[in-house]
Amino acid sequence: MEKKTFSDWQQLAVQLKIEGRAFIDGTYRDAASGRRFDCVSPIDGKVLAAIADCGEADVDAAVAAARRAFDAQVWAGLNPRKRKAILLRWAALMREHLDELSLLETLDAGKPIGDTTTVDVPGAAYCVEWFAEAIDKTGGEVVPADHHLVGLVTREPIGVVAAVVPWNFPILMASWKFGPALAAGNSVVLKPSEKSPLTAIRVAQLAHEAGIPAGVFNVVPGGGEPGKLLALHRDVDCIAFTGSANVGKLIMQYAGQSNLKRVWLELGGKSPNIVMPDCPDLDRAANAAASAIFYNMGEMCTAGSRLLVHRDIKDAFLERLVAAAHAYTPGHPLDPHTSMGAIVDQTQLDRVLGYIESGRSEAKLLLGGARVNAIDGGFYVEPTIFDAGDGSARIAREEIFGPVLSVITFDSVDEAVSIANASEYGLAAAVWTANLTTAHDVARRLRAGTVWVNCYDEGGDMNFPFGGYKQSGNGRDKSLHALEKYTELKSTLVRLR
Ligand code: NAP
Ligand code: MG
Repeated sequence: MEKKTFSDWQQLAVQLKIEGRAFIDGTYRDAASGRRFDCVSPIDGKVLAAIADCGEADVDAAVAAARRAFDAQVWAGLNPRKRKAILLRWAALMREHLDELSLLETLDAGKPIGDTTTVDVPGAAYCVEWFAEAIDKTGGEVVPADHHLVGLVTREPIGVVAAVVPWNFPILMASWKFGPALAAGNSVVLKPSEKSPLTAIRVAQLAHEAGIPAGVFNVVPGGGEPGKLLALHRDVDCIAFTGSANVGKLIMQYAGQSNLKRVWLELGGKSPNIVMPDCPDLDRAANAAASAIFYNMGEMCTAGSRLLVHRDIKDAFLERLVAAAHAYTPGHPLDPHTSMGAIVDQTQLDRVLGYIESGRSEAKLLLGGARVNAIDGGFYVEPTIFDAGDGSARIAREEIFGPVLSVITFDSVDEAVSIANASEYGLAAAVWTANLTTAHDVARRLRAGTVWVNCYDEGGDMNFPFGGYKQSGNGRDKSLHALEKYTELKSTLVRLR
């Protein structure tokens, strides 16, 4: 198959039909209130579609449908082999619709088409496949007990799972929730971000086509409201959230104010990327450091947004880093050669530019720092690097979620570890060193859910649990451990005599 060109994608974009309604109980419907909101493309600021702005009636209908389906056991009661077959069909449909889904994601979120076609959409299909393949191979335990007892420990689906997700990897982050939750037999109500609802809405139809019964998978788009309504809902058993720490704190409160539903949070980060003076390959490390902060416009929870460099190699490293950053000049997201697309919306653009302004007074600008007019009306920011000295500047402490890197200088291993851990977050970290002892010692001391040694952002497969220490959240997405979030553990004791 010929690779599609920029103009192929532009033509496909013109022909694209966009669904903007909610998906509840097996059908698309408008919000009960009739309200809609504009879905704007960050590529050029133009309106793509009108999206159902779901409120209380819609959330109640979706949760009720999910509950009915769960109670009727139309999904949870299937032999896991049958759930597997249906989920594999769904994943196959996502792959068949790769171009369409990638296009929706690129238009909606400004992500480069070269990424959505290779990472976001195939990654979501792979996640569904992985959990589908796992679910008919994971069983319970028969545990030691008194001789007159049979002791069983089993896992059962929790019931109705609400998934509330962000906009930076819209369909991929959603799949990390609905993949394991559905495989385990739950019903799901998915709330995509209002900034990027299109792929979630589209895959709902594919779920239906694949044979997922009505009510088992629902999508309720809308402003912040449906997320809050789901978190407060008394008939939601579990909420799986990915987003900011501030909203994560609210979600916990909502659970406490309502029914103590299970709460799982995947939150932000300010991840340290530490380059020791014995870094084995400065060129590779500099390329990885650029990708760690500029890939996906820096809209990455794991972004290596704090680069800690040893004073002895600082100049040599920064020279390479700046050269590597030039590969991320913003371009049209539909051009397959583009590696840096558009910032997701005006609000996020303003936030990023605000941080850059604050950085100018607290740190030394080394590269970038401006909005660029890559396409008229679009939201583009240059790759930006600040020398942030000891790391006390605001840009070096707070999550920006944009292409802005803070370089921090250190003089010893202990100092590097102490700066790295001096953050309220603990999502990811990396260390570059040729010394095996330093590698293991530092990896062990870093307070983060993922540690990379001599690489960054490696490990796209599902086997690694993903999540954070501290205010980066609780629980883990991906891997068999993700199933723990969506199941209750039951002890059954049978007395024989
Ligand atoms: P956000 O503002 O926290 O929003 C996340 C989701 O929560 C959206 O669907 C949002 O809906 C909804 N929401 C907003 N207010 C709510 C409320 N009061 N109650 C319930 N739900 C509410 O985060 P974001 O800006 O979309 O995403 C960026 C953040 O996500 C960053 O902090 C990033 O680090 C984090 N993230 C973490 C991971 C991870 O795995 N650890 C992965 C990706 C992103 P609306 O958009 O409709 O308002
Ligand atoms: Mg959008």
